[in-house]
Amino acid sequence: MAIQILPDDVISKIAAGEVVERPASVVKELIENSLDAGAKNIHIEAVSGGRKRIAISDDGIGILADEVALAITRHATSKLRVAEDLERINTLGFRGEALASVASVSHFTLSTRHRDEQVGTEIRVEGGHIIHEKAIGAPAGTVIRIENLFYNTPARLKFLKSETTEKRHINNIVTNYAMAYPDVRFILMQDGREIFRSTGSGELADVVVKVLGLDTFKDLLEVSGEDRIRESGGIIDVYGYVSRPRLNRNDRTRINLFVNGRAVQDSGLTYAVTQAYHSLLDKGRYPFAVLMLRIPPDFVDVNVHPTKAEVRFQDTNIVFTALQRTVRHSIIGYAQASRHSGYGSMANSNDAWSSPYSEQQLDLDLDVDDYQSKQEMSKTSSDPTAIPDGLRKPQKPRTLPPLRIVGQVGAAYIVAEGPAGMYLIDQYAAHTRVLYQELNDLYAQQESIPQRQLESQTLEMSGADAQIFAKHLDALNAVGFSLESFGSTTYLIRGIPNVLQTGDPTEIVYGLLDTLKVRSNDPLNQRLLIHIAERAAIKSGQILSVEDMRSLVQKLERCPDPHSSPSGQATLIHMTAEHLAREFERGNR
Ligand code: ADP
Ligand code: MG
Repeated sequence: MAIQILPDDVISKIAAGEVVERPASVVKELIENSLDAGAKNIHIEAVSGGRKRIAISDDGIGILADEVALAITRHATSKLRVAEDLERINTLGFRGEALASVASVSHFTLSTRHRDEQVGTEIRVEGGHIIHEKAIGAPAGTVIRIENLFYNTPARLKFLKSETTEKRHINNIVTNYAMAYPDVRFILMQDGREIFRSTGSGELADVVVKVLGLDTFKDLLEVSGEDRIRESGGIIDVYGYVSRPRLNRNDRTRINLFVNGRAVQDSGLTYAVTQAYHSLLDKGRYPFAVLMLRIPPDFVDVNVHPTKAEVRFQDTNIVFTALQRTVRHSIIGYAQASRHSGYGSMANSNDAWSSPYSEQQLDLDLDVDDYQSKQEMSKTSSDPTAIPDGLRKPQKPRTLPPLRIVGQVGAAYIVAEGPAGMYLIDQYAAHTRVLYQELNDLYAQQESIPQRQLESQTLEMSGADAQIFAKHLDALNAVGFSLESFGSTTYLIRGIPNVLQTGDPTEIVYGLLDTLKVRSNDPLNQRLLIHIAERAAIKSGQILSVEDMRSLVQKLERCPDPHSSPSGQATLIHMTAEHLAREFERGNR
């Protein structure tokens, strides 16, 4: 064959092959255009995983009527003029390829009205050929509709994955951009159903909750820090969330990294994040992360690949180190809060603990607290957090330093102060830990758990439920209940654990079903004790007196495992004195 220059439409198709790999790549390019156009609301709709139809509308600036045809021409862009501009790109697009590529492999309709114009424009393109262009009435902004993607590139069509896979890819793209742009509201519809919506509140936390769920979010740590990257000025700023070590998975797919608002795949940066967990995660386990890196544009080269998902840095090491250091910093801060830098290991040596303060400085608080706790030991305690009977034993070793109660916030958290800084204690989680510990101690020593006797109450239930109770009757009676079978579907409740002071006994007993039914490897008696502790614990929303708080915290100070509730919820957050000083930049003075 003789050498010849390819016709334009063939060139477009080849280029399209690079930019538009799958429906999700279309979604990505169009979202980037909307963001570059300053949109605050972006609505995305996909049908059949984007194969049948993708539609994106935005309230951005729109396109001038006489530039519409140009916008869908290859290498036509409003974001770049001269080669030097490539050195300082601060838009997501710059190659002028996306619209041309997409329009060459689909049935493509673009309607738009520029903010400064009265009349809008609609252009229809099929396989790269303009079918019509006409004036229309339209709101300011842009709507792009893509139908029958890859209809003229059968090979591409054949290699598309299942609809479910394509849907998932679209989901990931949209949620990623929603996290990178918390001030923009994203709405994603798939096959007519709303799949995702962000609020546009501007808070990353809000979006992360929407994407990962509140439960996962609770296990995330905030990351925030910056590093100077060169003498002449210039800062790398890292912000976002990473998981506590206990929340991890067996692949890296939940490590989401953004450089200057662009989702990037970079194995080096991903490695920096996992490295930060050094020794805290088992081999083959990876954390969750959503991290935004802000880097001076001239330090980053985004012109690496047509999909713009790869970047290069002027100095990779600097970025790697900055990222690893900031992430490590928050994980270590957390780990120290959990471990109390050695208190645990010293717990048995007579309440001794090391601290940057001299003993004398502490005397004030210590004396009062210790005096009171001794008093408490010898008198019949009347505080509501106590188990009335059975707690007349020698004190246990400390696992936390003595804390001074400062107050309560939000009727949910106790603020306390210790030699090594400030503590925020979740009253519910802490009380659950304390109650569980007390119950478990009794149980472990085969002492009976104090019981409240009742006038026999009957509890009617279904045959299936009654069988479940029948099967576990011994376990229930061993943790402080007194239940008696009374016919095949009725039980008599003669007593319940004394800690369960409030609530209707039949409802309390019936509530055990959930715990009885759960399949779990943990022993049933432990699960029942946790159930009782959780049920009996003071809830958040309850205002506590200083006495209540002191009594609770003193008990927590001697729990073998004071840092989490029996079901794994954190009981306290510790901010060291250094941490506080750093937050207020006292170090610089
Ligand atoms: P690039 O984004 O690299 O410039 P595209 O092919 O994606 O190239 O878009 C071409 C041009 O069309 C953009 O430079 C921009 O001026 C215009 N454009 C595309 N989408 C939109 C939109 N949603 N709102 C406003 N202008 C847009
Ligand atoms: Mg673009």
